[in-house]
Amino acid sequence: MRQPLVAGNWKMNGSRDSINDLLDGILAGIDSVEKAEVAVCAPYVYLSQVADKLSGSAVAWGSQNVNDNESGAFTGEIAASMLKDFGCKYVIVGHSERRTIYGETDADVTRRFMATQAGGFIPILCVGELLEEREAGTTNEVVARQLDAVINEAGIAAIGNCVIAYEPVWAIGTGKVATPEQAQEVHAMIRSKLAGLDADVAAKVQILYGGSMKPDNAKELIGMEDIDGGLIGGASLKAEDFLGICTAAN
Ligand code: PEP
Repeated sequence: MRQPLVAGNWKMNGSRDSINDLLDGILAGIDSVEKAEVAVCAPYVYLSQVADKLSGSAVAWGSQNVNDNESGAFTGEIAASMLKDFGCKYVIVGHSERRTIYGETDADVTRRFMATQAGGFIPILCVGELLEEREAGTTNEVVARQLDAVINEAGIAAIGNCVIAYEPVWAIGTGKVATPEQAQEVHAMIRSKLAGLDADVAAKVQILYGGSMKPDNAKELIGMEDIDGGLIGGASLKAEDFLGICTAAN
């Protein structure tokens, strides 16, 4: 039985004060979330604050990316060893905003995925198609290509120690949520592809849905057979909404 996971992706949002209030709100309601694991992925500069506030609580935390080099002349980048200082559990890799705005390729994402695991963290590997790819009927191909890039380098066993987030790019931050059936179809494709390589890995890996998930659509989405939780952008910035999704995951 896979435990549901609800992870917030705060993206480039927040301030010291707003994060303090948001975490207070989440901690005040977290006891009502009995079954799901909950995590928040914060901007790097707030990881110290998040770690201080959440350590000893039921909420895990992580970063939104990592560089694949150990150290050196990579201005503006963050190494896995640095994340270790802040007790991160998760690292998001391959988010569509990194792929589309900052040009991270499948190969870049794979290196970052491997650096995440080498650093002792769990990657949340994001995959998903653009609107034009869905309209062209290539969703499965695109998602399979993104997964294969990682599997071919890191090996199928590495997938057993990660979380996959299926995030149709057209549903991210747009309010256009995939229907539970649309999402389930891709999740099932991912799981059956993995099952063809390693049945145990396929059975245990958590596959989250991401893309305009809100308290009022979370239950139906997470209720689908192969949807094991959510990666939440906008709705993770309000404690009430985020907790609403976490409770739905129960
Ligand atoms: C995301 O950025 O991963 C995401 C799912 O965003 P939103 O929930 O705002 O669509």
